[in-house]
Amino acid sequence: MIIDLRSDTVTKPSKEMLDVMFSAQVGDDVFGEEPTVIALEEKTAALFGKEAALFCPSGTMTNQIAIKVHTQPGDEVLCDVTAHIYNYEGGGISFNSGVQAKLLQGDRGRITAHQVQESINPTYDWLTKTSLLCIENTANRAGGSYYSIQQMQELSAVSKKNNLNYHLDGARIFNAIVETGYTTTEVGNCFDSISVCLSKGLGAPVGSLLVGEKEFIRKARRIRKVFGGGMRQAGYLAAAGIYALDHNVDRLKEDHQRATKIAAIMNSLGYVENILPVETNIIIFNLIAKINPAVFIQKLADQNIKAVGFGKQAIRLVTHLDFTDDMLTEVERVLKNIES
Ligand SMILES: *Cc1c(COP(=O)(O)O)cnc(C)c1O
Repeated sequence: MIIDLRSDTVTKPSKEMLDVMFSAQVGDDVFGEEPTVIALEEKTAALFGKEAALFCPSGTMTNQIAIKVHTQPGDEVLCDVTAHIYNYEGGGISFNSGVQAKLLQGDRGRITAHQVQESINPTYDWLTKTSLLCIENTANRAGGSYYSIQQMQELSAVSKKNNLNYHLDGARIFNAIVETGYTTTEVGNCFDSISVCLSKGLGAPVGSLLVGEKEFIRKARRIRKVFGGGMRQAGYLAAAGIYALDHNVDRLKEDHQRATKIAAIMNSLGYVENILPVETNIIIFNLIAKINPAVFIQKLADQNIKAVGFGKQAIRLVTHLDFTDDMLTEVERVLKNIES
């Protein structure tokens, strides 16, 4: 038994998901004739109370397309220092859109309306134009923390007041939704655009959606083609996405419960220096100084548990659809015995 806790992207399609993929109706999506892709886009748009959506190969692409449509070269994007768009998209914001980031220091990934208001440049010719606010919910590098609906609404108000576009990197928005109880429509109402991943906790093999109003998505569709993301019979993948939205959202709670249990065990282990508060399915902990993280990760690997280093003494574990209670028992056993 291999227990892979490196990321929630490692899930594989279930038999039931594969069945719906095999029997999907398909067509050419670049010609706008892909019935299953259209169904997935309409379903997701309706879920968030928006007019349209666009199916893309990855969350990086949905974010990058949104940034491209919302900005002009030379503009700046406001985001938290831990943001995926800044840290993990290969410098794409400058490569693709010619924009720069102004990084804000949030509270475990969460920035406030006050911080945003203070960071917007006045409109002098010599200052960079601040045109986009991007937040991440849940925040990956910050340990899976989530925003409250009030925080997102306050950021929405400050964006409107200052004519900023407001994008949500919602790769894990469903983790926040099942944990807090706010609705998809409430989330949709806050933002100009939302990026949602199907291939993380929801368990689809590939795919993300960009959600927004019609005119925004029309422009986004053009940029998707320019970025090389126009797919043809993508309905086989979209069918997995529809299945994921129908079956795998509510169960994310189980991932959160298992993550909380792992964190509780870690609290009692001598080799753990500290753990970021576990709010959803991500556990980030620091090893005490005398333990080499690479050696620790190898020791876990020797016991068939995969984890990733997260800088300095930090290690990240992520629970997901393919992580069972039996695996949890095994992880507990290994963690308790590893350094003794
Ligand atoms: C995973 C992730 C993405 C998208 O990643 P892809 O691997 O390109 O699908 C975007 N934002 C966050 C916060 C993520 O965790």
